[in-house]
Amino acid sequence: MKKFYTFILYFDYALCISFYGPIWSYDDESAWPGGICKKGGKRQSPIDIRTNDVIKDFDKQFIKHGSLKFIGYENVLLSGVNNGHTIQFSTEGDNEMHPTVTGGPLKYFYRLEQLHFHWLSEHSINGVKFPMEIHFVHVRSDLEVSEALNKRDGLAIISVFCNIQTELNEDQKKASEEIMQHIPMLMRTGHRISGVILNLSKLLSPNKNSYFTYLGSLTSPECNEVVVWIIFDNPIYISDAHYRLFGKVGVGRHNFRSQQRLNYHQVFQPPDAFISTPKAILIVTDALKLVTQFFRNVTRFVVKGFKSRL
Ligand SMILES: [Zn+2]
Repeated sequence: MKKFYTFILYFDYALCISFYGPIWSYDDESAWPGGICKKGGKRQSPIDIRTNDVIKDFDKQFIKHGSLKFIGYENVLLSGVNNGHTIQFSTEGDNEMHPTVTGGPLKYFYRLEQLHFHWLSEHSINGVKFPMEIHFVHVRSDLEVSEALNKRDGLAIISVFCNIQTELNEDQKKASEEIMQHIPMLMRTGHRISGVILNLSKLLSPNKNSYFTYLGSLTSPECNEVVVWIIFDNPIYISDAHYRLFGKVGVGRHNFRSQQRLNYHQVFQPPDAFISTPKAILIVTDALKLVTQFFRNVTRFVVKGFKSRL
């Protein structure tokens, strides 16, 4: 029974077919079920990543397993749903068929269960949010979901930031357009599609060797502290037109959890990301571009989208 209960709880989180009914909402985090959501734990997410405090992991304290390896992300069978909190695509078929990730900070293989969107982003870098963040939620392959929810490294969530651009180049189009074409079918709570096959490898960051990683929590009830977060710092791009669609998706006024107090969080980054000077310059350039675009494009559309529902 306990196992079944936990299973349901997971799918409350994973599919957001709410076990608790529609009572949890991003509008009132103080009413979220799960004591740790309210009291706060030692490693709650999301957080603001302060790059000055990030540990470059030359000593392999946390990133002990070489480079990240993504297996089977090319042709993935998915179903999509608007669950009232987000738009989510879940992997279909046997667990053995799901894509897996390992390496980097991950000692085990983790199978992909679902991916979903937050707009604006939940994490930020040096206080700057991105227009969107995609979470690829993975479960440790040697565990049942109920077990994974009780292990400090039971889940691995790969996070990809999205930036907005009016005109995308061909590579940028390839990365995001395939999934974006399905969003219009998922505008209202309860809308569903199935039998979608996507090349998810394109949706991951263009630079998979450069990321931040830390031990954190789920960012929705019950905020279990079981997640190894891997957050790519190089974003993908989506078009203005596609981003504007998200402003009209029926999920309430917004769908990001407020940022959590920094407690025992230690954020690491692979040292390679810091060795190349040109890349460091690129990061600064991107950050400047981001700030400009954020204020010029994003807030305009988001605020407009929010206001239209108030
Ligand atoms: Zn999420």
